[in-house]
Amino acid sequence: MNTPKRIAVLGATGSIGRQALDIIGRHPDRYCATVLAAGTRVDDLIELARKHRPRLAIIGRQDLLPRLREELLPLGIATASGPDALAECVEADDVDMVLTATVGYSGLEPTVHAIRAGKDIALANKETLVVAGELVNRLLKDSTSRIYPVDSEHSAIAQCLQGEDVTRVERLLITASGGPFRTWPAERIAAATAADALRHPNWNMGSKITIDSATMLNKAFEIIEAHHLFGIAPDCIEAVVHPQSIVHSMVEFVDGGVKAQLGVPDMHLPIAYALGEHSRLQGASAHLRLEDYANLTFERPDLERFPCLGFAHLCLNKRGTTACTVNAANEIAVAAFLAGRITFPQIYETIARTLDATAFVTSPEYSDYVAINAEARARAEEIIAKY
Ligand code: MG
Repeated sequence: MNTPKRIAVLGATGSIGRQALDIIGRHPDRYCATVLAAGTRVDDLIELARKHRPRLAIIGRQDLLPRLREELLPLGIATASGPDALAECVEADDVDMVLTATVGYSGLEPTVHAIRAGKDIALANKETLVVAGELVNRLLKDSTSRIYPVDSEHSAIAQCLQGEDVTRVERLLITASGGPFRTWPAERIAAATAADALRHPNWNMGSKITIDSATMLNKAFEIIEAHHLFGIAPDCIEAVVHPQSIVHSMVEFVDGGVKAQLGVPDMHLPIAYALGEHSRLQGASAHLRLEDYANLTFERPDLERFPCLGFAHLCLNKRGTTACTVNAANEIAVAAFLAGRITFPQIYETIARTLDATAFVTSPEYSDYVAINAEARARAEEIIAKY
């Protein structure tokens, strides 16, 4: 029998982290969690650490470290805090795979360290590839580490590409639920509240990605992510709205054949497929009964009502630090929208104006991403303060 694969779960208390730990806990013969890391939810982290008994538990907010230490030290679980702890833990000898399920830009640094240390990555943090896809791909060339996508669309594409020649791909069709405002007229979207935007029809996710889904910037990010993951030209990647979220994405080949991956909307399957390095885990998710879905429908996305979708090809055409700036401005704008400081359309406006106001680096190194991310956040805050 093989020894269990040792996993560092970054973002353990979030939606993906918890579902991954659910899989890990149900399959102790295959997996164990050696590191659990969370940002601020210290009580949840303590509860998960009691259950999964990692070697190390990390909390992002330093003032919460004493409480974590007090609870976990008696159990023999080491504790740490801060960004350095995250970067160091992924390089440890007792980590075989890193699940990056943190939110936003924060996923980049540990991913870079994991690649440098030759660790495999189950990538749930799409912002990593959005912000710095070219850098990540360059680092992967000199590393033994591989990236297994957790995002349902990219898992679907990876499944469709099994046994295929990637040079025979005509198009990637990334499905989008359309979010909570799919059928809303523009005037109603303009007055949408955070509560409206958080009411996602099909997926139960964290608040940041749910707002990104409502603006459809999430889909723009997934187009960028797909380009970097699969090396398909930007013009050959499209979004198609599919409100039922049963077809998780499709690949069209040069002969006109189209392969799709279907399943109930449940992240357990793509998480298990990534943890298993593209292998299938018995009972990972509930089974699909196609007869329960009499109508699977598809429609073109509406760029007028969802202008954020247009950032996908803008970023892929301009390249450099464009997507880094879009991501940083969006993180600030989403937080401001959730706090009731800006309107829903001002999320798009803030990103567009931040792009105009922020420096651009054509061939960025890691330090350039750090600098541009900081600058774009400051510019976005200034723009929001003046609304
Ligand atoms: Mg997705």
